[in-house]
Amino acid sequence: MSELDYYEILEISKDADSNTIKKAFRKLALKYHPDRNQGNLEAERKFKEINEAYQCLGDEEKRKIYDRYGKAGLGSSSGFRGFEDFSDIFESFFGDGFSRSTKKRVDNYVLDVEINLRVDFKDAVFGTQKELKYKIKKPCKTCDGNGGKKNTCKTCGGSGKFTQTRGFMSFVSTCPHCNGIGEIIVEKCKKCSGLGYEEEEICFKFDVPKGVDNGMKIRISQKGNLSKSGEYGDLYVNITVKEDDKFIRHGDDVYIEIPIFVTQAMLGENILIPTLRGEKNLKLHIGTKDKEQFILENEGIENIRTKEIGKLIAQISIKMPTKLNDEQIKMIQNLQESFGVKTNEIAETSLFEKIKGWFK
Ligand SMILES: [Zn+2]
Ligand SMILES: [Zn+2]
Repeated sequence: MSELDYYEILEISKDADSNTIKKAFRKLALKYHPDRNQGNLEAERKFKEINEAYQCLGDEEKRKIYDRYGKAGLGSSSGFRGFEDFSDIFESFFGDGFSRSTKKRVDNYVLDVEINLRVDFKDAVFGTQKELKYKIKKPCKTCDGNGGKKNTCKTCGGSGKFTQTRGFMSFVSTCPHCNGIGEIIVEKCKKCSGLGYEEEEICFKFDVPKGVDNGMKIRISQKGNLSKSGEYGDLYVNITVKEDDKFIRHGDDVYIEIPIFVTQAMLGENILIPTLRGEKNLKLHIGTKDKEQFILENEGIENIRTKEIGKLIAQISIKMPTKLNDEQIKMIQNLQESFGVKTNEIAETSLFEKIKGWFK
């Protein structure tokens, strides 16, 4: 794949917001979509690139890692979907309105209930207990969930469908008078003002499982709305995880930036670093470089399904001195000399040899 930056591929600036990213992807994906460019390999290549860029930048978490660590940070475990799967990414964008929700409906409310839950980073990693408080709908006792006295809709005769005939063709649509229900309330129930339901506050303790991640949806069965027939829907809990200021999560792996002083990097010291579960020794090597990554297996997050533990990726950030006293200058000069580096000369003089030849 091309070495173009993901931002360049989507033709956007580095500070573009999610909406701009989405729009840029949509525009380019439509332009280069294989259906519109049959047999055009260049368009196909572009389309792959656009998808790859969007899969990264369109995902807040992946984007954060990409901005900080580049493509390398996303690694092979980034879960990039192959080209073959582009149809589902595409559908998630262009399919709006085409796929109808198949949720069970009871008169005028869906049985399933969705709520949002925000948890701290640490609680998402180790699990916690949270009190869930929300409202469910249940049939109004006064009108038995009917909303009042009802009559059959005269427009559709109770079928809920409305048929129009033009020539030999007939078009069936939802009855506009009763909205497809087939009945019209003629006298609204005073208790529920014709809604047919009343609300009840539900409160219970919920064990947030270890390893939950941003965007996960947890289903708790039978905790949703109650239907007229006595059936309960399900509760869906949408998880949002608060960011941590040190650890950055990517799937089951966790990144942490480790600031060390330049001399420690040179010496390859054995340093104590914070991990999710406490502290660990990290053995550097002589001449550890800035941005070098060290992987600590089994120090990441326990996968909610497989129970396997991810990695902790410690990325070195080398700190340089910003001022020196006379004594320090002397010591560093001595050090430099001991390596055979001459004052005011670059470390590899062979760099000049080549260029010198050009001007003879
Ligand atoms: Zn009622
Ligand atoms: Zn009708």
